[in-house]
Amino acid sequence: MSTATAPAKPRPTKPRVADQQLLIGGKWVDSVSGKTFETLDPASGEVICRVAEGDKADIDLAVRAARAALETGPWGRMNASERGRLINKLADAIEAHKEELAALESLDNGKPIGDSLAADLPLSIQCYRYYAGWADKVFGQTLPINGPYFCYTRHEPVGVVGQIIPWNFPLLMQAWKWGPALACGNTIVLKPAEQTPLTALRVAQLAQEVGFPDGVVNVVPGFGPTAGAALSGHMDVDKIAFTGETGTGKIVMTAAAQSNLKRVSLELGGKSPNIVFADADMDAAVEGAYFGLFFNQGQCCVAGSRLFVQESAYDEFVHKIVAKAKGRKVGDPFSTDTEQGPQVSQEQFDRVMGYIDAGQKDGAKMLAGGGRVGEKGYFVQPTVFTDVTDEMRIAKEEIFGPVMSILKFKDTDEVLARGNRTNYGLAAAVWTRDIGKALRLSNGLKAGTVWVNCYDVFDAGAPFGGFKMSGIGRELGQYALQLYTEVKTVTMAL
Ligand code: NAD
Repeated sequence: MSTATAPAKPRPTKPRVADQQLLIGGKWVDSVSGKTFETLDPASGEVICRVAEGDKADIDLAVRAARAALETGPWGRMNASERGRLINKLADAIEAHKEELAALESLDNGKPIGDSLAADLPLSIQCYRYYAGWADKVFGQTLPINGPYFCYTRHEPVGVVGQIIPWNFPLLMQAWKWGPALACGNTIVLKPAEQTPLTALRVAQLAQEVGFPDGVVNVVPGFGPTAGAALSGHMDVDKIAFTGETGTGKIVMTAAAQSNLKRVSLELGGKSPNIVFADADMDAAVEGAYFGLFFNQGQCCVAGSRLFVQESAYDEFVHKIVAKAKGRKVGDPFSTDTEQGPQVSQEQFDRVMGYIDAGQKDGAKMLAGGGRVGEKGYFVQPTVFTDVTDEMRIAKEEIFGPVMSILKFKDTDEVLARGNRTNYGLAAAVWTRDIGKALRLSNGLKAGTVWVNCYDVFDAGAPFGGFKMSGIGRELGQYALQLYTEVKTVTMAL
């Protein structure tokens, strides 16, 4: 009898990466200025490679290429179903290179390879496939207006779209932006975050290989105040889609207003309340709260960073979650059992440590973590603060790191009011076995997403975005098509 076993999968290793150029009009080019910048490995602080640094002159060239691709290239005349086929081919190519892309993402961002493979890659692939399906299903209406007229609407592409994305989920943020924009027939100039430009460039290369016409997607890495500002203030960009900090979102919106009033959609920060009632399945709530805060090194816009726990369950909950935080495995992103890698940069590391200091100074009790891990790289211990009150900085400001703040509450009315006492409104969660409470909170919480007895459940089909200062517009789902289309009314005399 044969006892053949599948060959063991090779251990993921850090890829070696060559210096990178910009993609403009289907060509890989140096920046006009000739400048480059370093992208660093957050696990060691060492240079991975140098990347061409785009600036206003490069953004101008990329916008010109995107305009030409829209108006004179094959893209504008292509059947919608053919656009869908190309997006599907891009999804196939990403899937065929998923180990390579996961390794590149983990190298540039620091996230554990297991997370890249289990979350970033499948969610990105699903997003492209989802929007591939929409490409030939974007259509208007015929309208029974008064008089002898034939009236209908067309849903046309907005045009040349500028997209600016952050470093926390580089592949996924690119997919959320490219999927609907391409399905609706737009052309794109993407500026990835300066900390993590590598996967965006590799996906752009795959897009060229599967046959996207030149100029449909252009990628210009560079810095916010130069390349990002040039894109959001450009007179020939029809729409800007931005994900990042609320403060930067205001700058982007101002630039759009002061230039050509381009359409604006914003996905910004959060300080999401995660509310645990004493009647909840406590183990599930502990698991969900732990994942909802520590996932991705705490660098999630939806992180459950105001964790409200009901008085009578507080001690039990704290005991369990502190034990879990202390057991979290922090280390090499390329080790398959690592649960937490480094923060993305020295700047983010310093910012997180600053908040840990603030929590202690403001009188919160630190029951786990608080320090750095190792001597090199930007690793922070999973940290838990209890006895946190609403006025403390750690309860008000977005930390974007592995720092949990636990607050105590008594009853439903109180926690609903406190949960909403923030300028943000991105996400919220409720843990309870009482359907009445679950519905009351789901209706009352001012947030774009409310999870009940779960956390961080994402799907390309479910819209995502913020109330209040967490953003404008909804990405994902059918709703995102509105961000990338203009409605035209045609009225014809009969
Ligand atoms: P950031 O705002 O500093 O940077 C985001 C992007 O904006 C980068 O590409 C950056 O280069 C660019 N940028 C910076 N200054 C600019 C300017 N003046 N003009 C144009 N572009 C500029 O944010 P970050 O620190 O990189 O990312 C973390 C933030 O992103 C957090 O606040 C987080 O909550 C938010 N975020 C939100 C979502 C969401 O969907 N709501 C998702 C992920 C991250």
